[in-house]
Amino acid sequence: MSEAVSAPAVVAWMRAFAATVAREREYLTELDAAIGDADHGINMERGTQAVLAKLEGASAAGAAGGLGPLLKTVGMTLVSTVGGAAGPLYGTLFLAMGTAAGEATELSLAAWAATLDAGVAGVRARGKAEPGDKTMLDALLPAVEALKSAAASGLSLEAALQGSVAAAEQGMTATVALVARKGRASYLGERSAGHQDPGATSSWLLLQTAAETLAEQEGGGTTP
Ligand code: ADP
Ligand code: MG
Repeated sequence: MSEAVSAPAVVAWMRAFAATVAREREYLTELDAAIGDADHGINMERGTQAVLAKLEGASAAGAAGGLGPLLKTVGMTLVSTVGGAAGPLYGTLFLAMGTAAGEATELSLAAWAATLDAGVAGVRARGKAEPGDKTMLDALLPAVEALKSAAASGLSLEAALQGSVAAAEQGMTATVALVARKGRASYLGERSAGHQDPGATSSWLLLQTAAETLAEQEGGGTTP
């Protein structure tokens, strides 16, 4: 187990996320059919497959370069391929993470928590959603808080990532009861309650695949 997040680990994360989104595409689309326009699974699959293709092409370079450029490549690819509301928001998440990571080649748990924090702050600024608005933020924000407190308590990277998945899952589940105040689902008003938010669900999958991959890789430029 590694105690730092490396570029090969981020590449492995994106591979795992693309595979999971492809597997869960119908589920994400069903959730969006209930309170949106039934395209979230398709949008996310298109974006994550494009990221995969981009990283295959630049695999060696991505693993050798800093984390900032790698995360920004992911972000730019998502912005230009996902579409819908989620495209710019997921794109911003990775672009802001890339800016925060800068030229670092490895990030400790505390630095990783700060990087994700910056990404989520970017999503919040871009989408102007608040916690409890029934959006992806309701999964992302608790996950960041869990990572930060895990770092403060000296937990291992692995344990911290697991804790962030549990926090995201709780936040995702809590969106069921909420009335949407942002995005397409907000057009439904009270009728949006009783359904789980699709974006919070894809964000939970993002954190779940992070926990499966980010602590697995040892640093040092090995290709996953
Ligand atoms: P669209 O709504 O354009 O069809 P998607 O279906 O791909 O886009 O994504 C919908 C998801 O985007 C929602 O479930 C929600 O989590 C997220 N979302 C929408 N608007 C916002 C916002 N302003 N801030 C944060 N997340 C948002
Ligand atoms: Mg949609």
